[in-house]
Amino acid sequence: MTPSLEISRTRFQQNLAAVQERIGPAQLMLAMKDDAYGHGVEWAASAATDATRPVELFGGYDVHTSLRIRAQAEHATVFAWADSSDDEIERALRARIQVGVGAAEYLRRVTDVAGRVGLTARVHLKIDTGLHRNGIRPEDWPRVIADAMAAQRAGLIEVVGVWSHLAEASDAEDDESARAFRDAVEVVRAMGAAPQSLHLTASAASWWRPELRGTVCRIGAFCYGIRSADGPEIPGVTPIAALRARVIEERASEVVIGLGAFHGLPSNLVGASVGTPGGLREIVRIDATSTLVRNWSGARVGDTVTVFGPGEQGESDATTLAERIDTVGEEIITRLTSAVRRVIVD
Ligand SMILES: *Cc1c(COP(=O)(O)O)cnc(C)c1O
Repeated sequence: MTPSLEISRTRFQQNLAAVQERIGPAQLMLAMKDDAYGHGVEWAASAATDATRPVELFGGYDVHTSLRIRAQAEHATVFAWADSSDDEIERALRARIQVGVGAAEYLRRVTDVAGRVGLTARVHLKIDTGLHRNGIRPEDWPRVIADAMAAQRAGLIEVVGVWSHLAEASDAEDDESARAFRDAVEVVRAMGAAPQSLHLTASAASWWRPELRGTVCRIGAFCYGIRSADGPEIPGVTPIAALRARVIEERASEVVIGLGAFHGLPSNLVGASVGTPGGLREIVRIDATSTLVRNWSGARVGDTVTVFGPGEQGESDATTLAERIDTVGEEIITRLTSAVRRVIVD
């Protein structure tokens, strides 16, 4: 009996609506990296496209993921920001995927590919606002923008966006980054571009720091119902995925469930509570393909145990488990291997 990650379409769409409501009039760009945070790109893109208020912007991270999104969302705006090979850039342009550019050299390559295939690349230029993780440094910004404007006049690119990424380490640092971001946008405008898409914030800052939102918010975690580690519950946002396994053996003081480290369950989660038909029970040991959980009266082979997710007994959410082992909720879900079946439910 294979374990499963049961994913709720309704809850996902409710989260999208809650996020859209919160950030309006800014637009939601749904982040999809790591196979839509372990939930599956195809499913997530189609559910987002079919939502009451359809998601129109997707962040694919790399070109491969962005092409998978494009296959589900023909008319959406899809944004790929990973540095990509010339081949990938070409495929991106042919599929109308917009590209993030965070270096002068990469701008040159995008421009070259656009010229070679005879298409206009829609680019979002990335300013380094302090994270030093890719991005054009403020001292290089005017020179790179000048190059970009020349390429735009030649019809090779269109500067449709300016963006950056926040460290989210402290409000003061984020304020500083936001100032650097606004300065960069001013430079771009002064040089004659009119980028429509200005984006800086991810889940936490988009939700809690409205003054930092641009015209677009790139959000993953909260849409998938994953709250920040050590952060509060988000009103209107609930976990969308439940990790379930079956009892495969019943012993005097423990039951054995068919889920282990091999499936991506971190073995240091010993001591965490899981939901069982008899209430919450502690994890006693995690082996390669099985886990020992404290027994409950009437436990039987075939019973379902919920490791995390929306459940009846107050099960943990992925972030609660993550906090035990100093990581983030995303990590708990994306670590689950393909040996965990993804099952979509209403
Ligand atoms: C992952 C990612 C996001 C989304 O972050 P969340 O905290 O999951 O909302 C936004 N922007 C970039 C560049 C990212 O890599």
